Amino acid sequence: MSKRQVLCALGASLLIAGCQSVNTTSGGAVGVERSQWMFSMLSTDEVNQMYAQSYQKTVGEAGKKGVLDQTSSDARRVDAIATRLIAQAPTFRPDSAQWKWEVNLIKSDELNANCGPGGKIIFYTGLIDKLKLTDDEIAAIMGHEIAHALREHGREAMSKAYGIEMAKQGAGVLLGLGQDTLALADTVANYGMTLPNSRANENEADLIGLELAARAGYNPNAAITLWNKMSKVSGGSPPEFMSTHPASSSRIEALQAAIPKVMPLYLNAKKS
Ligand SMILES: [Zn+2]
Repeated sequence: MSKRQVLCALGASLLIAGCQSVNTTSGGAVGVERSQWMFSMLSTDEVNQMYAQSYQKTVGEAGKKGVLDQTSSDARRVDAIATRLIAQAPTFRPDSAQWKWEVNLIKSDELNANCGPGGKIIFYTGLIDKLKLTDDEIAAIMGHEIAHALREHGREAMSKAYGIEMAKQGAGVLLGLGQDTLALADTVANYGMTLPNSRANENEADLIGLELAARAGYNPNAAITLWNKMSKVSGGSPPEFMSTHPASSSRIEALQAAIPKVMPLYLNAKKS
């Protein structure tokens, strides 16, 4: 056996040992049950901490540029909606009650919003202004984003990327992990936030988001009006949001089919 073959074999066995099948959330009324392959060296806490660094950088830069909106009525709206949604997150995963959730509104024409690993939310004013979003629609989009974070779709994408790297380079990558957290933070940001989500991930985020919004007292029908508005504007210049959240033609049908499952939760929920 050559040295290279030994390294490859070692890499492969470490790769298998380093992966685990998990389900990051409980099913809820919408029943999201897919098991996920996660790279165990890349723990939830580690990814959340790494992402927190890149989030603070984004928020800090927005502050310096004077585009961080902390006082407008929209900032208060976004904050209030986030608070109600976050209160429902432990339904899907109890440990999210300990996350250091943050929400920030950035003044920008960008039609975008996201929630990174560990509950770091950014909303852009362009989305609210151009789509004239109602509170229920803001809750639909924010619920969807929070669902990506709860399901750890970012860590899942990174796990895949590391698996590929390890297969290419052998065990060295594994041993080097965790040494350069800043570089890793960029990797998290890249894999977690900028690559298009898979159709399966989008569907999960739609379903969990729908339930979060309903439990928080926001009308789940707003998910339909939101995606209709989104596809109308994407006729001209496609919103940034659509590049990371590819919409399939079946999205609205799937949402419509799930609404009856969460409607009782909405009807029984506190509306403030
Ligand atoms: Zn999405």
